Amino acid sequence: MRLSRYFLPILKENPREAEIVSHRLMLRAGMIRQQGAGSFSWLPLGKKVLDKVCRIIREEQDRAGALEILMPTIQSADLWRESGRYEDYGKEMLRIKDRHERDMLFGPTNEEMVTEIFRSYIKSYKDLPLNLYHIQWKFRDEVRPRFGVMRSREFLMKDAYSFDLDFEGAKAAYNRMFVSYLRTFTRMGLKAIPMRADTGPIGGDLSHEFIILADTGESEVFCHRDYLDLKVPGEATDFTNDDEIAGIVRDWTTPYAATDEMHDEAAWDKIAEGDRLSARGIEVGHIFHFGDKYSKPMGAKVTGPDGKDHNVSMGSYGIGPTRLIAAIIEASHDENGIIWPESVAPFDVGIINMKAGDAECDRVCDELYSKLTAAGRDVLYDDTDQRPGGKFATADLIGLPWQMIVGPRGVAAGEIEIKNRRTGERETLPIEAATKRLGAA
Ligand code: ATP
Ligand code: MG
Repeated sequence: MRLSRYFLPILKENPREAEIVSHRLMLRAGMIRQQGAGSFSWLPLGKKVLDKVCRIIREEQDRAGALEILMPTIQSADLWRESGRYEDYGKEMLRIKDRHERDMLFGPTNEEMVTEIFRSYIKSYKDLPLNLYHIQWKFRDEVRPRFGVMRSREFLMKDAYSFDLDFEGAKAAYNRMFVSYLRTFTRMGLKAIPMRADTGPIGGDLSHEFIILADTGESEVFCHRDYLDLKVPGEATDFTNDDEIAGIVRDWTTPYAATDEMHDEAAWDKIAEGDRLSARGIEVGHIFHFGDKYSKPMGAKVTGPDGKDHNVSMGSYGIGPTRLIAAIIEASHDENGIIWPESVAPFDVGIINMKAGDAECDRVCDELYSKLTAAGRDVLYDDTDQRPGGKFATADLIGLPWQMIVGPRGVAAGEIEIKNRRTGERETLPIEAATKRLGAA
């Protein structure tokens, strides 16, 4: 992409309404545009990051055996009356009427709808396990939308729903999502810690919130330092092996970790003081087993091997991709701007032409651009006539992992500079070596 043809509305000033650094940087980098309370448009740069985040989520959901579907945002109130939640949900739910005066709602979540799909088709335990997920906009009329996309009213959610014959099966499904989440967040350069969360009337211990440690987080969290060094399972993890998966979950749930709601002072006191980590955190994912809470009132049952009907045992598994982007920025930035982990960076490489219009600089930049693009790298080429200082500031602000700096003096010597955004290290290299370094032959 050539910057002269792109839409990148950079803000020079710090927007006053933004209280936290991720919100500030997302506005300044032209990633999002606020449209109303807790409502945002995603501009080209932001949309690219959002797509990369969703792609990682998809790959890891698919790897764990979940199947992608897409359900509507607008739902019928009657469906929610079946589970009893239409009355219970409260003011966070946006209630709407259609032209026939029928009660509708903008989905804050999809348990009812996915249960309706399940009960219409699945009748036998032989079709289980099943896990269906989608990535779809949700609306929750939050009391206090704030911090940009961190807590908005309209936000994207990946929500998966598992169906199993019995608790044992449901637990295995829960474990698969648990491990899938570990992999998902690590691939985005994040250290997410699974913390015991409240299970309410369901009981048991199958509810975890995945929390990123950050000073601006809304939750108060407590965990053992061991979490910082735990190994995240690799690509070769066998999601069809229930014992292997359960072993990973055991390793990741043995050290102490809880949010303030579940905090146990007695257990905390037993941990050596130097091993205690008490911090603030951002919830980026939440997994939850809820048994027959929906299958029972909604009649989602299968015939078991015993020939009898069983209400299926369910769980739901959420990740907030839009909130995640803010969390990634909270975890990875400096005073000059965002520092994207390579896996979610909007572009892999930025080419900075220090003297656009200079025949040699233009020629070298064009050549770099086509070589890198041909090699499959996503490149943003700053071909504008801005001054170098402004170009450097933009490149740092939008946080591309690598910058290639092309100036007349270097070009005359057959050299360019490459800069690593994270370390700030600059290196002058012959043009060909630089191109090779960044992934093109
Ligand atoms: P919170 O306690 O932060 O309100 P929640 O418990 O309501 O979250 P879930 O219902 O478990 O959240 O939703 C799953 C995921 O969706 C959350 O882990 C979070 O990443 C995301 N999410 C929830 N509410 C919002 C919101 N208002 N804005 C952006 N993302 C959200
Ligand atoms: Mg909430």
